[in-house]
Amino acid sequence: MHKIINNLIEIEKEINSNNFKSQNKVKIIAVSKTFSIEKILPLIDYGHLDFGENKVQEAIDKWTVVKKNNKDLNLHMVGKLQTNKVKHAVKIFDYIHSLDSLKLAKKISEEQAKIKKNLKLFIQINIGDEEQKSGIKIEELSNFYKTCVKEYNLKIIGLMCLPPANIDPSSYFSKVEIASKNLSLSNLSMGMSSDYLIALKYNTSFVRIGSKIFGRRD
Ligand SMILES: *Cc1c(COP(=O)(O)O)cnc(C)c1O
Repeated sequence: MHKIINNLIEIEKEINSNNFKSQNKVKIIAVSKTFSIEKILPLIDYGHLDFGENKVQEAIDKWTVVKKNNKDLNLHMVGKLQTNKVKHAVKIFDYIHSLDSLKLAKKISEEQAKIKKNLKLFIQINIGDEEQKSGIKIEELSNFYKTCVKEYNLKIIGLMCLPPANIDPSSYFSKVEIASKNLSLSNLSMGMSSDYLIALKYNTSFVRIGSKIFGRRD
């Protein structure tokens, strides 16, 4: 069997045996950024359905044909989204994990209305208040969420975060879990190759895993 399929199966097993708390099934997003579609195809043939990319143009180049031929595939935008790319992003992606400003919310609302599509969105929280990271401040979340839903009719399904690097992410995951409960949101996008087992303890529903499936990125 192909190595990347093995990697995915191992991660699935690990998640199932560590997932004591959560009732809802954890979805693994295979983050395939920088890898060519040829490298990804074995996983698609195996039947995996959720893939993540962080650049709009790269996603279009790699996924346009494959998605036409595999209607069940879900493509997740996990990277920073510029407003001038939204028009193309709403066409190719099914989920956006990086909603981080009202300007972006407005643009997504306008562009998806034009093509009658309703993407599933995560609000990205800048949980470590880090200057170099995007995301909504936790204190501003409640107002931001209300505007997204009432003014822009967006389908917000949950919260996403990228905790500060190289320290225990537990307290950050915990804060985001509490914030999502306060808004009665049912999904969390937390956990990457290095910390998905910790994210499970905080009831994450989507883990975004790249290098542990596909290997190191250059
Ligand atoms: C690249 C990326 C991932 C996957 O990272 P790995 O450490 O390779 O698992 C997850 N989330 C986001 C937002 C990313 O950009």
